[in-house]
Amino acid sequence: MKCIFCGYNDSKVVDSRYLKDTSIRRRRECLMCHKRFTTYETVETNPMVVTNVDNMREPFKTEKLAESINYATYCVDLSVEVEDIVSKIETKLFALQKQEITTADIVKVALDVLMEVSAMACLVYYTQHTDCDNFDGIRRFINR
Ligand SMILES: [Zn+2]
Repeated sequence: MKCIFCGYNDSKVVDSRYLKDTSIRRRRECLMCHKRFTTYETVETNPMVVTNVDNMREPFKTEKLAESINYATYCVDLSVEVEDIVSKIETKLFALQKQEITTADIVKVALDVLMEVSAMACLVYYTQHTDCDNFDGIRRFINR
């Protein structure tokens, strides 16, 4: 499993936990930079399809969502576990009851959930996932 922070391709598992019968969450530590991140192994039963900005379609992947939440929350003191945030976002996405969602749907739901957890994480996530390499975007976000 490649480190999401430095790209080094070896890590050790420091903790494993079964979430449901079909899912395992693993806490990993990079052997190079020693930062920690969470990965998920899930049996592929999820039919939800995500359409991205280039109109490419791909199956919804919890791992991918977890990666972005890991990144957004890395520098933040969290009172909740990353996997709880991820599963909350996932649950809200499933609740949309759509076979097909867009990356914009994911970003919107993720921002709502992150907002309850940490404004900082929310801002990091926002800058990662939207066009806001200028102050206008950030100002719009703050005024939301
Ligand atoms: Zn690393």
